[in-house]
Amino acid sequence: MTHGNENIMVILSSPSGVGKTTLTKKIQQKYQSFKVSVSHTTRLPRSNEINGVDYYFVSFQKFQELINKNNFYEYAKIFENYYGTSRNEVDKLTSSNDIIFDIDWQGTKQISKFKNLKFIKIFLTIDKDELHERLTKRNQNTKEEITERFNSFDKDNMHWSDYDYVLINKNLEVCFKQIENIIKLYKKPTSEIHKF
Ligand code: 5GP
Repeated sequence: MTHGNENIMVILSSPSGVGKTTLTKKIQQKYQSFKVSVSHTTRLPRSNEINGVDYYFVSFQKFQELINKNNFYEYAKIFENYYGTSRNEVDKLTSSNDIIFDIDWQGTKQISKFKNLKFIKIFLTIDKDELHERLTKRNQNTKEEITERFNSFDKDNMHWSDYDYVLINKNLEVCFKQIENIIKLYKKPTSEIHKF
């Protein structure tokens, strides 16, 4: 794991609907040093999403080509679509930025194998009772998608132990503060870190 003034890489994973995207945006807004790693996906853009900002939206064929060319650090099939972190994206950001990865547990497992990359891995979850309401309220998914995402909650949660921190996003501001505290721990000025 990285310490001190070095750039850090934070992975945020969660079951769908927990508020990860909102938290990712909040971190980026408050800390200019953080850039979000923009993933490739075969999923269609939602009405508010912009190509190259939220995702690089590509066809299945293009995604397969990128897999064949070994272009991804990791990729996974999630809810019938592919999502992946391209090497180009990470290499472009890595030298002068802190990076946030909004990826699932499968991607976290794969990318963790690259020992040259050091991550702070945070798993976010919520109370299951709240989840259905949130998925419905955010109005981004069809009824079938909501059911699918709700049903995968327990399976996704099983992977919490692969992470360094597990946070419960009951209250957005409290959860954001907890993430900030974790970030500050790793971004401490080098002089404050005790060497052994
Ligand atoms: P959504 O379709 O709601 O944007 O994302 C669905 C899931 O895909 C989320 O859990 C998100 O974290 C995950 N995801 C997004 N990009 C990537 C990626 O590049 N790799 C992996 N493994 N998961 C991703």
